[in-house]
Amino acid sequence: MPQPSFGVDQFGDVVPDIFGERPSPRPRKASRLSAEALLDGLNPPQREAVLHEGAPVLVVAGAGSGKTRVLTRRIAYLVGERKVHPGSVLAITFTNKAAAEMRSRVIELVGNRAKLMWVSTFHSACVRILRSDIGRFGMARNFSIYDDADAKRLMQLVANDLELDPKRFPVRVIMNWVSNCKNELVDHETARARVSEGSLEQSYAEAYGEYQRRLAAADALDFDDLIMTAVHLLQAFPDLREQYRRRFRHVLVDEYQDTNHAQYALIRELCSAEIDTPPEVVSLSRGGQGGSSPPQVHAEPPELMVVGDSDQSIYAFRGATIRNINDFESDFPGARTIMLEQNYRSTQTILSAANAVIVQNAGRKPKNLWSDAGDGDLVVGYVADTEHDEAQFVAGEVDRLSDAGEARYGDTAVFYRTNAQSRAFEEVFIRVGLPYKVVGGVRFYERREVRDAIAYLRAISNRADDVSVRRILNVPKRGIGDRAEGAVADLAARERISFGEALRRVDDIHGLATRSASQLRSFVELMDAHEAMVAEGAPADAILTSVLERSGYLSELQGSADPQDQTRLENLIELVTVSREFVSGVAVLAAADYGDVDGPEDGQAPDGVDEFGVLRGGSLRVAEGRSVDPLTVALDPEQDLAAGAAEVDASLGAFLERVALVADSDQIPSPDAESAGVVTLMTLHTAKGLEFDAVFLTGCEDGVFPHQRALSDPAELAEERRLAYVGITRARKRLYVSRAVVRAAWGTPQHNPPSRFLTEIPDRLMDWRRTERAVTSWRNTSATSRSNTSWRTTVGYGAPKPQARVVPVLTAGDRVLHSTFGLGSVVATSGAGDDTKADVDFGSAGLKRLSLRHAPLEKL
Ligand code: ATP
Ligand code: MG
Repeated sequence: MPQPSFGVDQFGDVVPDIFGERPSPRPRKASRLSAEALLDGLNPPQREAVLHEGAPVLVVAGAGSGKTRVLTRRIAYLVGERKVHPGSVLAITFTNKAAAEMRSRVIELVGNRAKLMWVSTFHSACVRILRSDIGRFGMARNFSIYDDADAKRLMQLVANDLELDPKRFPVRVIMNWVSNCKNELVDHETARARVSEGSLEQSYAEAYGEYQRRLAAADALDFDDLIMTAVHLLQAFPDLREQYRRRFRHVLVDEYQDTNHAQYALIRELCSAEIDTPPEVVSLSRGGQGGSSPPQVHAEPPELMVVGDSDQSIYAFRGATIRNINDFESDFPGARTIMLEQNYRSTQTILSAANAVIVQNAGRKPKNLWSDAGDGDLVVGYVADTEHDEAQFVAGEVDRLSDAGEARYGDTAVFYRTNAQSRAFEEVFIRVGLPYKVVGGVRFYERREVRDAIAYLRAISNRADDVSVRRILNVPKRGIGDRAEGAVADLAARERISFGEALRRVDDIHGLATRSASQLRSFVELMDAHEAMVAEGAPADAILTSVLERSGYLSELQGSADPQDQTRLENLIELVTVSREFVSGVAVLAAADYGDVDGPEDGQAPDGVDEFGVLRGGSLRVAEGRSVDPLTVALDPEQDLAAGAAEVDASLGAFLERVALVADSDQIPSPDAESAGVVTLMTLHTAKGLEFDAVFLTGCEDGVFPHQRALSDPAELAEERRLAYVGITRARKRLYVSRAVVRAAWGTPQHNPPSRFLTEIPDRLMDWRRTERAVTSWRNTSATSRSNTSWRTTVGYGAPKPQARVVPVLTAGDRVLHSTFGLGSVVATSGAGDDTKADVDFGSAGLKRLSLRHAPLEKL
């Protein structure tokens, strides 16, 4: 068989000598589908987007209009019809899970050669760029990636050392400040130069600087660094940027509305027609040869397609900016915009409900989204007494829909605003035996024992990783106390070496007890023995098993009488299983972007406890998705093109990298799990891009959703409303909206008025199964005098359908009696008809915004 001519690029990947539209000489069984077949099932504007050539193109359209479908088909068309080499395609999705899905869709359409594409998240793509080229900044290519918890630990150390008052400078707040800087591509030197002396910000900037120094010393990057550093790298080295521009001839980005400035800058570096490198970036290279590269002849910019919906922008708290969508045409001159208007996902009723909510946001471009799926069922509304009753109602309906053949468990999802809300559903679902899966929440990789095990692996893989080394120095307890640790740290500081190096020089440490010294020595022996395993190329699972055994970690848990330790043991066994599967090539760690895909939650809860005071550590959750890991598929065209085989890098480094990039959306059930029939519980943020036959939007209470913090901030409220729009538009056929009158938070019952989003849905679209009127048993009694148990027994699931109630007419100054909050006076009213709201001052119970249609309120 004739061999195509291949060269090796700077990634070590074998690629054809000429990128672009030239057909590969190898006869391709890839082109399975004709051009017509690839365009099949697309409407005219969708086709246009798939066929478009040349100038940058933006597809803006509402939810469910086929944006993701267009993106996937376009890649298939590029490879299948335009004969673009798959290795020159870079597609960015929001989660690795979405990336895996997109890959397999394209492979289905055009065959195995599509495996050469880069389909990944921004973070994964940047890791790949950095692994290959970060050496130019004088950093090691095997750098560690610190996830959120590692970063927090490091920042805590920094804050302690800088003696920052924890009350004035909570670690989370410092971290957010630093994160914002990084998302804006502001490095610590620039940040330091910008703040004024003696200001609060000066302390943040100092912490930023110290934090970066320690990261660098540990050869580590945090998540925000991944993007920022990749951008700085491309800016500092025009020749490098040019290499990537020559490589990626087609760049496609899904969910563009959720890109932040740094991500935008990356796309710009890769795709902009005019390239401007600000001179100051030269100073950013850490000891590298910044900016010294000769000027380059620029390649034609690659073809760029981004798709998004500004109404679904829900990551502003992480620096995402709708600006990127709004300014696309000026950012990329000559760009074309294509709009899609037909929604293929939902019934007209569901769409109308979504539209009614989103139109309340000021300053948005109106959209004309329609569906020909018919009106379908009304939106079901339900007011429960407590969150337990709400869960009970949901469980009952899920069962009913399944029995009636309307929605299988696997086609049903329950959404809530914050992770902690899953608890009530889990309790009820377990009790009634309803199979479910929680996405996010208690994360496997955040468990202490799992983190300890990972810290061992990291310390072995990179002895300069101080955070990891110090984490496990005395875990399990081996008699190395704070004083010994402090002495090692002093030596490290004095000699400007890493903690790990200092450990290897025990003899230079003065005043160390003999016993401590010998403990340190045996710890070093343990680590050295495993470093040797790495050097010999032992696979990740062997190293993990060995270190868990030889460190005594397993035997300590085995010997413990504490039942929690049994769970810990199981989790470690699970981790070993994960590593085995990773090594054998069925990367169970499919899926997922990094860390927190949930929305911002109040970061007040102490570690290990959620905001409802519930201890973290529920059931074990491991990804079910089994797909080939996009990060570890070797880009060897010989193999890929011939056999479609994916070669897996089984090394410890590869495993750690994978682990670092995994997070909670890995647990989105795979199609297998769906057919097995599992209800999905997830936060609204995680639900982005997905669709389900039946959707339960729960906790619709002002103060819960919209989140408490958003009530006084119009910008945050607008973001919460977009979140509601995302939630509603996930539903294909059935939508339920529910709320609880009383909800436990930190153990104290709280009463929240109905979510304003509920009142924004027109009445004609609603079928209220139960309203607050039905909640009679507690009227005129004090809430706090009752326990949750009595709430549950008074009114449960299946209460009689309530009658319509008379909506009181109120004006400012009126006095009212609320069944829960007691006496109050009306401060202001707003809205009209069914939407009338009143702001009522209830004295010590606070100022509440009430929907007059729903509030149990009497005018006095
Ligand atoms: P979101 O904004 O929620 O990410 P989206 O715009 O990406 O939505 P898709 O997920 O691509 O929309 O499509 C929504 C649903 O509509 C999917 O089930 C998809 O298969 C289907 N769909 C899209 N276009 C068409 C079409 N032309 N004909 C039939 N079904 C379609
Ligand atoms: Mg989509």
